[in-house]
Amino acid sequence: MKHHREFEIAFVGLKPGEHEYRFQIDDTFFDNLFQEGKIEKPEFHNSFVEIRMVLDKKSGTMLLRFFISGKATIPCDRCGDDFEITLWDEFELLVKTVDDDLVEKSNQEDAEVAYIGRSESLLDVSMWLFEFVTLCIPIQHVHGEDEHGNSLCNAEVLKYLLNQPLEGNNSLQEQLKKNNLS
Ligand SMILES: [Zn+2]
Repeated sequence: MKHHREFEIAFVGLKPGEHEYRFQIDDTFFDNLFQEGKIEKPEFHNSFVEIRMVLDKKSGTMLLRFFISGKATIPCDRCGDDFEITLWDEFELLVKTVDDDLVEKSNQEDAEVAYIGRSESLLDVSMWLFEFVTLCIPIQHVHGEDEHGNSLCNAEVLKYLLNQPLEGNNSLQEQLKKNNLS
């Protein structure tokens, strides 16, 4: 297993109270997780994301707050052309330490809290960074409109899709239906 040192927090030695961390991630970060088989290949590219993480350490718990801002390029669901989306959101995660043999059970029973074993000394935040950045991406990502209300989608592609005969390419027709363009 590869190491993500920059994403590992040695929390045991931290004093109680707030500690701030800053991460900058791009396509390399996602590629590495993909190479390790931890995630599926992301839909986006050209990503650049800054994450400020505030770790509030209390006895037995840590509250992590993630402040995400960045951008990525993603293909439009409707016309297929790439466009840039802004990634921006905040997330909170409560991390609790429990006896090592209870970690799995606790994580299964309680999705709101992340449990780690008492013998752990490092907190690898890379998968949380991935999850929270992914949550910033809207489920449907389609080009917006200009100031006159015209779609910014590739006009040629839309025209082409709309002019396909019904017996033509089924997948295109389905695509149209899916996107409410037919
Ligand atoms: Zn589009």
